[in-house]
Amino acid sequence: MTQTPQLLFKNRRPGETAFLQEYLKTGGYQGLKKALKTLTPAEVVDAVKASGLRGRGGAGFSTGMKWSFFPADQPGEKYLVCNGDEMEPGTYKDRELLMADPHQLVEGMIIAAYALQAPVGYIFIRYAYEQCSKNLERAIAEAKQAGFLGQDILGSNYSLELHVHRSAGRYILGEETALLNGLEGRRPNPRSKPPFPAQRGLFGKPTTVNNVETLANVSHIITGGPEWYANLARSPKGAGTKLFGLSGHLERTECFELPVGIPLREVIEEYGGGVRGGRRFKACLPGGASTPYLTGAHLDVAMDFDPLAEVKSRLGTACVTVFDETTCMVAATLNLNRFFARESCGWCTPCRDGLPLVNWLLEKIERGEGTLEDIEMLKDQQRNISGRAFCALAEGAMGPVGSLLRLFMDEIEDHVRKGRCPLRS
Ligand code: NAD
Repeated sequence: MTQTPQLLFKNRRPGETAFLQEYLKTGGYQGLKKALKTLTPAEVVDAVKASGLRGRGGAGFSTGMKWSFFPADQPGEKYLVCNGDEMEPGTYKDRELLMADPHQLVEGMIIAAYALQAPVGYIFIRYAYEQCSKNLERAIAEAKQAGFLGQDILGSNYSLELHVHRSAGRYILGEETALLNGLEGRRPNPRSKPPFPAQRGLFGKPTTVNNVETLANVSHIITGGPEWYANLARSPKGAGTKLFGLSGHLERTECFELPVGIPLREVIEEYGGGVRGGRRFKACLPGGASTPYLTGAHLDVAMDFDPLAEVKSRLGTACVTVFDETTCMVAATLNLNRFFARESCGWCTPCRDGLPLVNWLLEKIERGEGTLEDIEMLKDQQRNISGRAFCALAEGAMGPVGSLLRLFMDEIEDHVRKGRCPLRS
């Protein structure tokens, strides 16, 4: 097991949270000082672009590119919003980060807001993350007291206000435009894109929405330099480190900071301690409940955006959920789809009506009452829902369903042939 440099988890200690004094001792706020004293806002954007950082919330969009769409030199109201509404089943990396070291997000947000010349920032946080929001409130107060936040930060003539806003507690609020509606006090239906938030976002003004982990990387890129950051990855096109939150049938279900591009096999065997109880690996979700399954044939894939796309899956949040040989993949997919169907906002038909129909079909097959026609209907639903819904929720739900149909057709057909779940006696 090679040691990965720890950036995001540098100050992580079991059961403890690093606040200002500890954060400063390990180089905290050096990135902010460097950015404000030696770099123009455009140079910060260029550094983030050159680092190759891609969004850590799941979609993997280039962060520097997203910032470069933002009209930083346009005067007036503009916003930076941090998406901390981490609710993807199996995903808990942002919570680990905020429980360990909340100043990292605060510092990253100040640098990002300076780059975008946004005078106001919001941290929109999952309702259940009560302690994380308390940690952030304290970190914000400490940063203000120390002159890192507020008026004329470090004599730079740049000022920023940061606010913590707790989510109302539904999955759809993590969709960036639904989040903006929620922040405005409206019903959180997703908005149509384009216009992207960079053109018309919070209160109709230019807004950039970035994930917690994405923003926490920014101070490290500024202090270490974009080239150093990019070279931390193991895959040729990858950049940086990534938080991998492990769950499911593993010996060790913890969150690790590892290089982007680490092979899946190493994540599972070295860090996860292998499949629990010496059982065989059957499948995994590589990055949250909306990412298509991988099987034993994919264990050597590099955990990076492009290599995972090549095997028809996604890095997503890199929170890996492992299923051992005793798992019925129809039942596992049904469990995931129930979540997505329940959390649909009901705004568009493929999601509102399609996901309950997928539930009905999977339940029927799992009970042993499914027919070959039901399998055809499931395929039809998967095709009809994919790419036809208003936001990524239904599309995400079809990640596991599509890969169930592609990788586990024998197992589905076995349910129909035997008239029962083949994995239950
Ligand atoms: P997306 O690909 O539509 O967009 C990604 C980001 O890039 C957005 O901020 C978007 O505004 C920006 N963007 C994309 N194209 C752009 C353009 N042409 N101009 C300007 N900006 C542009 O994906 P999404 O709907 O934001 O996110 C979906 C992902 O969220 C899924 O892949 C899933 O993995 C993830 N997700 C994560 C969680 C979690 O708890 N972390 C929960 C649900 C879903």
